[in-house]
Amino acid sequence: MSPASLDLSSKLNDWTRHFGADFIMGDLPVPESRIYVHEKCQAPTEVRENSFDEMSNPLSDVPRTWCTACNAFGPVSEFAWADTGEKITDYRARHSARATAVERFFCSRVVWFGVLGAALVTGVVGGVFLFATSGLLLKIIMVPFTGFMCVLLVGAAMIESTKLVLWRVCGFKETRLLK
Ligand SMILES: [Zn+2]
Repeated sequence: MSPASLDLSSKLNDWTRHFGADFIMGDLPVPESRIYVHEKCQAPTEVRENSFDEMSNPLSDVPRTWCTACNAFGPVSEFAWADTGEKITDYRARHSARATAVERFFCSRVVWFGVLGAALVTGVVGGVFLFATSGLLLKIIMVPFTGFMCVLLVGAAMIESTKLVLWRVCGFKETRLLK
């Protein structure tokens, strides 16, 4: 085959694999919850929705998680998944092994809070300039609104970029599907 057709064929192969993966992923039902066990008290806690999202994310650097029996937060290192018995810290290490330092940094809480904080300030300052000549009432309504919209837009962009990083690192955008 000529280099051009080889190139085309490898591109086609890539596309098929990508779309194939997405197609299969789209077909897999996302579990609603997962249970982890606290080593100290041996009691199970079920995580759902945002907490499940966060605990299933192998790039998450959240240091503590909730135990219902203790009615308190404990270090993530004291918890293991009930179905596999794997410690959550080992699970994070296993699925995030391919992540570069930059990717880890990008998904860290410092960057998230920093970027969202900067978005809020930018939105509020932008609002102050945009509505500089407006009446006080409009200012009171619109300045927090532009701040909020800015956080919302930047947050959505951050979520999408994080999903792309996760996809590259562990093969899944939806980490609740990981075992
Ligand atoms: Zn406990």
